[in-house]
Amino acid sequence: MTSNEDQISGYYNKLLKRNAGEPEFHQAVAEVLDSLKIVLQKDPYYNDYGLIERLCEPERQIIFRVPWVADNGEVRVNRGFRVQFNSALGPYKGGLRFHPSVNLGIIKFLGFEQIFKNSLTGLPIGGGKGGSDFDPKGKSDAEVMRFCQSFMTELHRHIGEYRDVPAGDIGVGGREIGYLFGQYRRLTNEHESGVLTGKGLTWGGSLVRTEATGFGTVYIANQMMEHNGESMSGAKVIVSGSGNVAIYAISKAQELGATVVGFSDSSGWVETPNGVDVELLKEIKEVRRGRVSEYADQIEDATFHADGSIWDLEADVALPCATQNELDGEHAKTLVDNGVRYVAEGANMPSTAEAIEIFRANKIHFLPGKAANAGGVATSALEMQQNASRDSWNFEYTDTRLKQIMENIFRNTSATAAEYGHEGDYVIGANIAGFKKVADAMLAQGVI
Ligand code: NDP
Repeated sequence: MTSNEDQISGYYNKLLKRNAGEPEFHQAVAEVLDSLKIVLQKDPYYNDYGLIERLCEPERQIIFRVPWVADNGEVRVNRGFRVQFNSALGPYKGGLRFHPSVNLGIIKFLGFEQIFKNSLTGLPIGGGKGGSDFDPKGKSDAEVMRFCQSFMTELHRHIGEYRDVPAGDIGVGGREIGYLFGQYRRLTNEHESGVLTGKGLTWGGSLVRTEATGFGTVYIANQMMEHNGESMSGAKVIVSGSGNVAIYAISKAQELGATVVGFSDSSGWVETPNGVDVELLKEIKEVRRGRVSEYADQIEDATFHADGSIWDLEADVALPCATQNELDGEHAKTLVDNGVRYVAEGANMPSTAEAIEIFRANKIHFLPGKAANAGGVATSALEMQQNASRDSWNFEYTDTRLKQIMENIFRNTSATAAEYGHEGDYVIGANIAGFKKVADAMLAQGVI
């Protein structure tokens, strides 16, 4: 091993000890550090001034109590988090996740990933993430509202247009952003549109933000396919999940001529050999907040499975769009055996490290989440631009900007992989391209 490799292993071992019990954070850091070994061989100065250690330590971590009153009068107590990871490129930017699995390690992994993703967009945004172990499922609108108001009562001290701009993620959609924004406005007595993104269209929101992550994932997946002489048109595509990202990935893939052969939620998965009725799926998941089995109940050629795995389906393309580590080594082997040639991650870190190794070993074209799902945060940054100039752009213009950003991300990722001698390895390309821009800014700004 070279001394740079020794040093990186040293940083990682120290990080494991200082951040015990946070496996998702370890996993996200390990993948980036692995790519940085390649950077340091060529550009060893990136190891100066404690740069890599500083990059792996959040600038600030806020944990707070969120008490609220349930409809039956009982007091409930949840935990709120905001990890402000890196602001070298701009204000912290990243979503809020409300899900019972949320803990500090999950928020740190998401915040760490967000640094590189936001850098890849080419827009001036730093990385952060937050959320709570609150579960919106089964709660009334009034309960969700009281929770959001309590959450924002603490969070408002730490955010702002130039400081930290949260958005949605799992469990946080338009309804939650509305309640959060309302409470922020009430507490500060200011209509500061730029403090949150994902807002409603009549009060500072941007067209295309709702669709952006799913659309962006399909735009960049299609570009990767065209780069290799194929395209979405005529392809069979598996999309896991049926939330915000999945629904708009399904919609755009089908618009480009693909057949989406399955989707899922945490209760099971639905096989759809002849494609998906997106309007019905939206009605079930977005309006009724129902389960995917209801879709199979209404569509004759759709079959619901409570067992097995969506990754057992045969397809050309897999778009994991649900949650972290939903696609493991066994699933990856099955996908390879079943003919999948392209994988683009709509979710954050949905593939385990073992799954990624299997994709690499089998020459599957694999785009990691920090490149493939960057369309959401990029369009949030476009929402911030519109708020700052008190303007609102039309759908076509905003969609064109999103498409251009995704094209730039693919070009940059692909060119960086080739520059560092790993052509076609988009994990290495995305990690290095994302890293260099942040690292250059950190070096220029001194040891802080
Ligand atoms: P949503 O809450 O809208 O949807 C999440 C979907 O994933 C739901 O269908 C949910 O099912 C399903 N799901 C959750 N856990 C599992 C599981 N263990 N197995 C199968 N399905 C599961 O979230 P989003 O669509 O916003 O987010 C999805 C992913 O995309 C996350 O990783 C998020 O971090 C990432 N992402 C989101 C962005 C955005 O703009 N929204 C931007 C970039 C990344 P159920 O309804 O049963 O809970």
